[in-house]
Amino acid sequence: MSAVESTCPYCGVGCGVSVDVSDDATQVSVKGDKTHPANAGRLCVKGSALADTLGLQSRLLKPRVDGLQASWDHALSAVSKRLSDTVARYGSESVAFYVSGQLLTEDYYVANKLLKGFIGTANIDTNSRLCMSTAVAAHKRVLGSDTVPGCYEDLELADLLIITGSNMAWTHPVVYQRIVAAKQARPHMKIVVIDPRKTATSELADLHLQLAPGSDIWLFDGLLAWLLDSTAIDARYLNDHTENYSELVKQCRQRDNDISSIAQRCQVDEDELRTFYQWFVRTARTVTVFSQGINQSAHGVDQASLILYCHLVTGRVGKPGASPFSITGQPNAMGGREVGGLANQLAAHMDIDNPAHHALVSEFWQTQKLATTPGLKAVDMFRAVADGKIRFIWIMATNPVVSMPEAELVRNALAGCDHVVVSDCIADTDTTRMADILLPAAAWGEKSGTVTNSERCISRQRGFLPLPGSSRPDWWIISQVAKHLGFEHAFDYQCAADIFREHAALSTYKNGGTRDFDIGALMQLDNAQYDALPPVQWPLTPASTVSSGLAGKARMFADGRFYTPSGRARFLSVAPGSLPQTTDAEFPLWLNTGRIRDQWHTMTRTGLSGKLQKHISEPFVELHPMDLQLRGLHAGDLALISSRHGQCVMRVRDQAGQSPGSVFMPIHWNDTVASNARVDKLVSAICDPISGQPAFKQTPVTVSRL
Ligand code: SF4
Repeated sequence: MSAVESTCPYCGVGCGVSVDVSDDATQVSVKGDKTHPANAGRLCVKGSALADTLGLQSRLLKPRVDGLQASWDHALSAVSKRLSDTVARYGSESVAFYVSGQLLTEDYYVANKLLKGFIGTANIDTNSRLCMSTAVAAHKRVLGSDTVPGCYEDLELADLLIITGSNMAWTHPVVYQRIVAAKQARPHMKIVVIDPRKTATSELADLHLQLAPGSDIWLFDGLLAWLLDSTAIDARYLNDHTENYSELVKQCRQRDNDISSIAQRCQVDEDELRTFYQWFVRTARTVTVFSQGINQSAHGVDQASLILYCHLVTGRVGKPGASPFSITGQPNAMGGREVGGLANQLAAHMDIDNPAHHALVSEFWQTQKLATTPGLKAVDMFRAVADGKIRFIWIMATNPVVSMPEAELVRNALAGCDHVVVSDCIADTDTTRMADILLPAAAWGEKSGTVTNSERCISRQRGFLPLPGSSRPDWWIISQVAKHLGFEHAFDYQCAADIFREHAALSTYKNGGTRDFDIGALMQLDNAQYDALPPVQWPLTPASTVSSGLAGKARMFADGRFYTPSGRARFLSVAPGSLPQTTDAEFPLWLNTGRIRDQWHTMTRTGLSGKLQKHISEPFVELHPMDLQLRGLHAGDLALISSRHGQCVMRVRDQAGQSPGSVFMPIHWNDTVASNARVDKLVSAICDPISGQPAFKQTPVTVSRL
């Protein structure tokens, strides 16, 4: 037997795992890594079941071109020829990559470098657009950089922990377990959950504000207004470390945000709302954790900004137990952000529309072709495919035919696209079915690289199984295509460590403390040191070196220095308002989508575990008993759920914790395991205007007996 330390490939908690592998690699067992700072040996049920998902029965093991098995040489030639022919005929803006928070940082880096740096278009976006691009935009706008100020320990140290827009007990279980333990150790710690549903998380709450769908923005605007009149305002901090405060006050006072109006808009009890606001005023150690309920909204950036503002006006940013904290959904959404995985970013947290950053990256990559303007964000990208503006798309490690809003439009767009290339480790998904060229990618346990979790901790994923069939790491596949396109000099990587060193070198190149993301010390790692790299948070402390020891900073901005031009945090205008859609007689219910405890994304991997299937084995729609009664439905009935965009059939569940007038459906099921179960067919592709993140939480639907 041999033992390997790696990282769980599911959620953004980023738990370390210890894997025992038999010498012939036929026996694998997975347990929590006691030394990893994220989980200290804990695992949730998904992480515990990782060994169940390692079989080859569902794997894509050979390249396929136009339906026929092909050699790698033939497949790579076909990809590069179709890509270059498309660029020659229609220009570089006619090609796009759609990538994934499942990719390792090294894969992500190479994909970005190829498309932005050498094809010359920024039409590369990621499924992280659906997950945390709102938090990115809010961080950039307010803090001047996409930096999560705090760390997991802050959630344990807080005297008041606010969890908004997250059912962490199911979506980030190990961080939730840490909170439960902290609450047991310090019973005076108060927990407020803000969620339209009663959930496993709200069971822990001292106060659950079960607000109306989409009203979070008003709740936090009301909190800001309350704070401005309170003793919690930190005048010295505001004076020394922020800008535009007087304008913030002026605008906030012009809005209708007294506590009675807010309680009415949010449909919460006014006394409970007052209690929440008073607790926030009184409690210096306050952490606000926010996730998809805030991010997946048509005004997500404004409501995330308001959360940051509430922390800034009280000086509670980046201090022990006092910070806003965006918790990401995916295992490597953060690593993707670090290499510029979004269409509006450059690598190493630089900006595509910043001339100095553009010049720096061009020089570092030695290219004249670096894209100069932001590319298409996910929803616009698939619309451009549908319109025939994108003629070539390469989808890596994600399943947009299931996960994108208006998913049927995405399927039809791909069906009509000239060239669809899909890299995946799974053979049969709703998206691989649309591919002209299929490229077999290495899976978790076979590939090797790094991921970054929600608290900025970089951890190694390590391969412990041989590559099956013809599968290859994503970075290798992308680099080979780049070489076929004539860019050998820039993509001559021998291993993932080569890419990581380049990524680290770019992060520190002409940085001088001007950018938040700096892991320059890691460019000194040799291959053996890279292989042995322990988890480390970025940014690294100035004294960190590979030989003397690596240490990261757990918290950022405690000194009140931000990455804006003035060095101060910015208060920019926000515009609380109504949702762009309303329910009506035809579609009278709000659809809220989300995850269940034991499945991940579109189930291509967790669906392989019988143990995980036992929790909830089929798709469902949850309604309040009153809504069931109104429709003559009973628990267990099959129902038709319709929106303006599509229809699904699901079994009905009776859920008293659901707010009347709203329904909940999980996102996981797909048409390869259950017919007519892709919930995202129903969801409107309405996005936040700044972040481009779709509003998955509020789509008007109707539910009727089948
Ligand atoms: Fe994996 Fe997330 Fe569970 Fe940890 S909490 S074991 S990272 S799914």
